[in-house]
Amino acid sequence: MCLYQNLKEVYFYQKLKDNKVKCEVCPHYCIISPNQTGICRVRKNIDGSLFALNYGKVAAFNIDPIEKKPLYHFYPGQDILSIGSYGCNLKCDFCQNYTIAHGEPNGTYTESEKIADIACREENNIGIAYTYNEPFMWYEFVKDSAQMVKKKGKKNVMVTNGYINEESLKELLPFIDAMNIDLKAFSDEFYKDICKGAVRPVLKTIKRAVKYCHVEVTTLLIDNLNTSEKEIDALSRWIASIDRDIPLHLTRYYPAYKMNIPPTSIEKIKKLKDIAQNYLNYVYIGNVVGIDRNTYCPQCSALLINRETKVVAQNIKSSKCTNCGRKVSITI
Ligand code: SF4
Repeated sequence: MCLYQNLKEVYFYQKLKDNKVKCEVCPHYCIISPNQTGICRVRKNIDGSLFALNYGKVAAFNIDPIEKKPLYHFYPGQDILSIGSYGCNLKCDFCQNYTIAHGEPNGTYTESEKIADIACREENNIGIAYTYNEPFMWYEFVKDSAQMVKKKGKKNVMVTNGYINEESLKELLPFIDAMNIDLKAFSDEFYKDICKGAVRPVLKTIKRAVKYCHVEVTTLLIDNLNTSEKEIDALSRWIASIDRDIPLHLTRYYPAYKMNIPPTSIEKIKKLKDIAQNYLNYVYIGNVVGIDRNTYCPQCSALLINRETKVVAQNIKSSKCTNCGRKVSITI
C-alpha cells in the first residue's frame, strides 16, 4: 500500500522517462503522465508509479442466481455472491452498467478476506462472481480475493469483456473456475466504432480461457449493428471451431447509456439462434420473457436442466446424459 489510503500499486506496468508509466494490463497499453489516469480511469500515475484507485472499493454487492451472470452450465440453480467496482477499458455506447462501469471510484472499502468470509457464510452460495464493471480493471483486488476464495474451497467466476493481455490473463486464470466472456460482435469495425476496442484480443482470451476453466459466451444483439445472418454464422462457426459445446447466449438489447436504437425484434433473435444452432449445441436467448431457456441433450434431446420455474438439473450423472450416455458440459 502507498501513502494514499487503500491504493495499491498495480502489477503490470513499466516506468518510463519523465515520470511517465506504461500500463500493460490490457491491449490499450496506456502511456500515463504524472497525475493522470489511463482509459479505464482507475489506474493513476502518482509520482511516477502506477496505482489502482479502486482497490477493495465495492460499488455493487448482491447475491444472484448463477443463471443471471449468465452461466447456464455451471452449478445450475445455485447462488453466487456478485460484486463489482468502478472502471472499464471499453466504452460501449450501449453499456448496461454504465453508472458503475464509468462512475467514480468511491465505493465502500472492503478487505478481500471479509468478502471471502461472506461468500462462505451464505447458504447455497458457490463463491464470488466479479461482475458489473470490468473485473480485469479491478485486477489486484480480484486476484487477492480469488486466492482467498479458492483457499476456502469456493468458486470464482468472472463476467468479462475479455479485453485483456495474455500475461495478466495467465496469472489470474489458475484461480478462476468459470467465465462468461462477452463477444460483442464478430467484426473489428463494431469494436472500434461502438466500444473503442478491437475484437482480436477478445478472441484470444476465449481461446485461452477454455483451456483453464468453464467458459460461456454472450453476444448482445443490436439491430443492424451486429445482427446480420452472415456475422452470427461466422461468430458461431468460430466458437464451434474451439468446441461445439461452448454455450452461447444471444441476448436482447434494450436502449441504454448513449444508444437509443429500439430493442431488437424477438423474431430476428430466434432466426439468429437457428443459425447459431447449425454449429453450436447450446444456444440460449436472453433478456426475453417467456422463451424456452431449458437445456436439452444434443444427442437424444432429453431434458437436462429445466428452468421453467425453479431451476432443476435432471438426467445428468458424472457429466453424462443418463438417457443416452453422451458427455455433457455441465457442472452440477
Ligand atoms: S488497464 Fe486501464 S490504464 Fe491499463 S492499459 Fe488498460 S485502459 Fe489503460
